[in-house]
Amino acid sequence: MTSDTRYIEVAIALPVDRTFTYSASEPFVELLVPGKRVLAPFGRRRVTGYIFGQSRNPDNKELKPILDVLDEQPLFPSTMVPFFKWIADYYKYPIGEVVKNALPGGLNIYDYASITLTEKGRSAHKSEPLSAVAKLVLQQLLAGPCLRNKLSQNIDQKIPKALLHNFEKNGWITRKWELSGPGTKARLERFVRLGDTSLPVDRLSKPRQKILDILKIEQEIAVSKIKEAVPTAAALIKPLESAGYLTIEHRRVYRDPFGESIKPDIAPILNREQQHAVSQVCKYLNQGYHPFLLNGVTGSGKTEVYMQVAAEVLKKGRFVLVLVPEIALITQIERQFRARFGECVCVLHSGLSTGERYDQWTRIMQGEATVAIGARSAIFAPFENLGVIIVDEEHDSSYKQEGKLRYNARDLAVVRAKQNECIVILGSATPSMQSYYNVTTSKFTELALTKRVEERHLPDIRIVDLRQSRDARGIQRFITPELQSAMKETLERGEQVLLFLNRRGYASFPVCSACGQAMRCKHCDISLTLHQRSNVYRCHYCGYSRAATSSCDICGSTNIKHLGLGTEKLEDMLTSLFSQARIARMDRDTTTRKGSIIKLLKGLKNKTTDILVGTQMVAKGHDFPYITLVGIICADLSLSFPDFRAGERTFQLLAQVAGRAGRGDRPGRVILQTYNPEHFCISAARNQDFKSFYQQEISFRQALAYPPFSRMIQLKISGKDPQETEKFAHLLGDHCRKLKTIHAAHYQSLEIMGPVEASLTRIAGRYRWQILLKASNTGALHQFINQLRSESHSDFNHRRILVAIDVDPVFLM
Ligand code: ADP
Ligand code: ZN
Ligand code: ZN
Repeated sequence: MTSDTRYIEVAIALPVDRTFTYSASEPFVELLVPGKRVLAPFGRRRVTGYIFGQSRNPDNKELKPILDVLDEQPLFPSTMVPFFKWIADYYKYPIGEVVKNALPGGLNIYDYASITLTEKGRSAHKSEPLSAVAKLVLQQLLAGPCLRNKLSQNIDQKIPKALLHNFEKNGWITRKWELSGPGTKARLERFVRLGDTSLPVDRLSKPRQKILDILKIEQEIAVSKIKEAVPTAAALIKPLESAGYLTIEHRRVYRDPFGESIKPDIAPILNREQQHAVSQVCKYLNQGYHPFLLNGVTGSGKTEVYMQVAAEVLKKGRFVLVLVPEIALITQIERQFRARFGECVCVLHSGLSTGERYDQWTRIMQGEATVAIGARSAIFAPFENLGVIIVDEEHDSSYKQEGKLRYNARDLAVVRAKQNECIVILGSATPSMQSYYNVTTSKFTELALTKRVEERHLPDIRIVDLRQSRDARGIQRFITPELQSAMKETLERGEQVLLFLNRRGYASFPVCSACGQAMRCKHCDISLTLHQRSNVYRCHYCGYSRAATSSCDICGSTNIKHLGLGTEKLEDMLTSLFSQARIARMDRDTTTRKGSIIKLLKGLKNKTTDILVGTQMVAKGHDFPYITLVGIICADLSLSFPDFRAGERTFQLLAQVAGRAGRGDRPGRVILQTYNPEHFCISAARNQDFKSFYQQEISFRQALAYPPFSRMIQLKISGKDPQETEKFAHLLGDHCRKLKTIHAAHYQSLEIMGPVEASLTRIAGRYRWQILLKASNTGALHQFINQLRSESHSDFNHRRILVAIDVDPVFLM
């Protein structure tokens, strides 16, 4: 090899656990930057890999050379390499695929380069000896500049990337990066300022004079604003500018999701608790890793704390990452952050188009965006130097990614902060058991906000025992007299009502009235739900649907009873009960179309909605100021799930929904209907008392050695053939037990539970089994799974049976 050979560490985007070393020589040497992709030979294939950094070749082995460098600019900073490695190791996922999952799809920087032929290139086209492809490329470019991806399309051939590198080196072509994808164009608005004030105004028309009068007061104003006073302003300002009376400037403006432009806001004066929280955090700025749990009741102004900390971090020249559990909430927080910080804010979520996502990613890489807000996958935002990571509503289970790379973004926020030596703030009104436990063991520092802002009161919560209306008929059963009269009063006062029912569709339990058979999914072991609006029975696990006119599979009867209450049925009931009220529904069925969430929120904001019916979507962090009554139709739905976190989830959900009431100037109240009024989850939610819930729940966890007193890994086994899957599950269980017996001393604290059939025995045609591994010692648990994987390699790479490793599982069913 020549002296110009370099060695690089590459993570290959294939299911392999380690990275590989490749050699690279001219013309690639100067292009080797961590974070770029390369094309590399792997066995007999050519595959994509990610450069992690320089490597060495101590034994002077013959190493394979890379074939190409695929990116002009790196896709992630080298500081993220240890993060990716940690994830691969902890979540037992192939390192190259970790990176692939972390990068947003469609991120192909190379394709966005616009290529232009130079003069030199033009003459080269005539004079130099060229390959056939080279000729085609140059010919195509003679017609004008062309995007990289279009170029291949137009000549209908793959273009070797080394060819373009060489062209560029020879000075035949230039490349320019077209960064703005479709739909990302900045919105500009015209602003005017007073110009030369010595010019005479008395000869001007009345409207012109009026414009100048406004300017004398306002100094600077948007043209759209002047139009409110002078409708013809748009046509008049141009001539006024030419004559020197005023100046016009185009400025970038942001619009909130409601289409109104966002006015810059000024930070409000913090109350004492908020102030204390901000100053506590800021003490640790630039002092290395420090984790906080911001435990603040609903409406206590946590967002304001985040923003003021963010402002301090930005002043120190470091960056801010904010995670929010779902897209609907991103819009709300984005609006607040934009009003405060303007241009430097970017958002990352799956609702963006490829071009938009690419644009945002690049803005972060180039240091233009210094604040990023996003859903769980934003934990991979390519910041080089974070000052703070904020995780809002940290208890929310949507931070857990299921399928593919199974990670928990909340936990990763802590890991990334540790590696990045920065601050992390987990915020919630209902912290997870895990996070609060970390406070009690001094791993996290607690910041408490115990009061709502502006001396607003927490809502008054009344419990209504549903057992007393068990025999009531129809509507009365779920809209109890207490709830009904409270609704009536609220509506009469012109205020809004929120009704929470955590089940969508019309009827969740359709049953044949002739033979009693439930309508079930063909592919899953689950009842179908009737969706009356779309006239189908639908499976909520696999999406299977059948006509609403279907008859019973067993006896053929068409007389199906629609038991089980869903949000659709509730909406219908309300229409008959409150015929004057304007009712809207917010659940997964009404929010699939782009913009539909905004429309629903707008209805509340503009007071064109009186009653909002919704599932857990309405529970999450929204700030609806006119809702003064929240009705929880049935608090028990999630309580009976066969999952040790059922109580935790129920408490969180109820306390959060209740927290939507009374966030404006008027006090709020909540009617909580339940079959279990004595249950401690219910009474703790009623008192908005996280601490008392925590005390009871933690002793139960400790008694059974559940997390946070232990760690778990679940092996999720699934296959299409029921016998084969079961047999395989038992085989894998035997391997686990054997391994434990051999190393009995080492794995003493490790418990192997199962294999057992999953509670949801079949989903989408796959039979499901599971093995739960539990240990008080994380190290031992991870060692065990590594050993199991290497010793029973074939079990994890079976052709027909899938074994997914779920580290720190959240959904155990
Ligand atoms: P949380 O997330 O804790 O439930 P929010 O951050 O949504 O609460 O704040 C509730 C409301 O209080 C928001 O409308 C916010 O603008 C307002 N707010 C926050 N801090 C202050 C303050 N110091 N003074 C006045 N209003 C505030
Ligand atoms: Zn039947
Ligand atoms: Zn199904």
